[in-house]
Amino acid sequence: MADTLLNIEGIHKRFGGLHALNDVGLTINKGEIYGLIGPNGAGKTTLFNVLTGLYQPDEGKFVFNGINLFRQKPYVVVESGIARTFQNIRLFANMTALENVMVGQHVRTRAGVLGAVFRGPKTRAEEAAIRARALELLAYVGIEKHAEEAARNLSYGDQRRLEIARALGTNPTLLALDEPAAGMNPKETVALKALLEKIRGDGVTVLLIEHDVKLMMGLCDRIAVLDYGKKIAEGVPAQIKNDPRVIEAYLGVAPE
Ligand code: ADP
Ligand code: MG
Repeated sequence: MADTLLNIEGIHKRFGGLHALNDVGLTINKGEIYGLIGPNGAGKTTLFNVLTGLYQPDEGKFVFNGINLFRQKPYVVVESGIARTFQNIRLFANMTALENVMVGQHVRTRAGVLGAVFRGPKTRAEEAAIRARALELLAYVGIEKHAEEAARNLSYGDQRRLEIARALGTNPTLLALDEPAAGMNPKETVALKALLEKIRGDGVTVLLIEHDVKLMMGLCDRIAVLDYGKKIAEGVPAQIKNDPRVIEAYLGVAPE
């Protein structure tokens, strides 16, 4: 029997008259790479926002690693072990790559962000540890040579990697990635696939939104399909690519 990490049921989210999430439920098992696909506007990012506490769902159930996270605040979600990246890159453009990763880790430290600004003797030791860990994370995602460069000067693909490094800095159990391959060239996409497989190999469960169907079919253990706020299919890649509803709503023609 698979070990459940995330379970949501009957999630609804409305924006005025728009029913952005309509009775969405899914279960993600520990160690899975779980994909979320669907047309633009289907509700994929909205679901991520619900799963990270940025949006409060109207109804439903949300349990993560045995913790009830229904309508919890973002910092509680992060402390519970969910980290994410954003569809539109959200880095501190003028800070270095290293500083961007260091900032991400302060949610996990006692001294916190204020301690990082007003340095006392205790925070200095903590700061050194955070710096070492941040360098380790940059090396892990393969961009350590850019540690001292401003984030805005990194290539698009490297900025995406930097966001992943920053998210990993919170020591997540679940890493949620919103279109990490968007804007990447084919070579960067292949490297991203290898990185995500490494992350999963190191014990982090991965939830992934992506439009690159070939990437998703080759990477994900299971895939769910959203359309107009509803989950219209869920299964292993072979099931998804042959599902008539998925072909009609999203794929257009069945990929070979
Ligand atoms: P996807 O990520 O699948 O492309 P989104 O989750 O971003 O889709 O959007 C789903 C729908 O919800 C869209 O119609 C979008 O305009 C709407 N939506 C998302 N966030 C908000 C918001 N904060 N306020 C109003 N409408 C929103
Ligand atoms: Mg989106």
